[in-house]
Amino acid sequence: MASILEIKGLEKRYASGHVALHGVDLSIEEGEILALLGPNGAGKTTLISIVCGLVMPSAGQVSVGGFDIRREYRRARALIGLVPQEIALEPFETVWNVVRFSRGLFGKGRDDAHLEDVLRSLSLWDKRDAQVRELSGGMKRRVLIAKALAHEPRILFLDEPTAGVDVELRRSMWEVVEGLRARGVTIILTTHYIEEAEEIADRIAVIAKGEILLVEDKARLMDRMGQKELRIELH
Ligand code: ATP
Repeated sequence: MASILEIKGLEKRYASGHVALHGVDLSIEEGEILALLGPNGAGKTTLISIVCGLVMPSAGQVSVGGFDIRREYRRARALIGLVPQEIALEPFETVWNVVRFSRGLFGKGRDDAHLEDVLRSLSLWDKRDAQVRELSGGMKRRVLIAKALAHEPRILFLDEPTAGVDVELRRSMWEVVEGLRARGVTIILTTHYIEEAEEIADRIAVIAKGEILLVEDKARLMDRMGQKELRIELH
């Protein structure tokens, strides 16, 4: 399989002097689900934010679909959908306007059939004329995903999609992720929980204190942990 995201030697030193990433290397295959597993402050959000152009790297290279994020940012960014940790949506906008506007931001032509498809796949089609404020927390999370998919990205980042959600909503998030995988979308999700990573991912990358400790096929990792060959101290 071809690699869709290549990260090499990525470093981040914030203005405060704190070094959040120490020479991170990571390669993501097209179509896979990768869980970025790590505790608070590990550098997960920093990593995602750099790839999405929200935070400036101090050193290193990132390319998305072969496009360097510094030199060909717009082309690289067009391939990425970002679902942030916080629900930041305009309360008085309708679901339809949210997704239509988001698609337009990426300079994509109008394609109502695609937007309908995205909303149907997330069980949001019946809510298309509802204002965001009328929706439940779970539905708002789905709108965030729909918004991120509106411009047809090939890779989707989900930053702690299950933080603070109940068991039922967590289950429905995983169904959504499975549905996206079936459609060929590459997914990178961050989590604090190894059980979650185990449940949903094909590969697991463990990050702590700004370093990738290991990247392993899920089955192989579980096997190694079962045989106590490996212990991961995350907390
Ligand atoms: P969480 O699971 O809590 O979201 P994370 O793995 O996403 O954590 P980051 O948010 O990337 O971790 O933070 C990594 C480190 O960088 C932390 O120590 C954090 O305090 C620090 N950090 C993040 N943003 C900044 C900033 N703007 N300035 C200085 N330090 C920062």
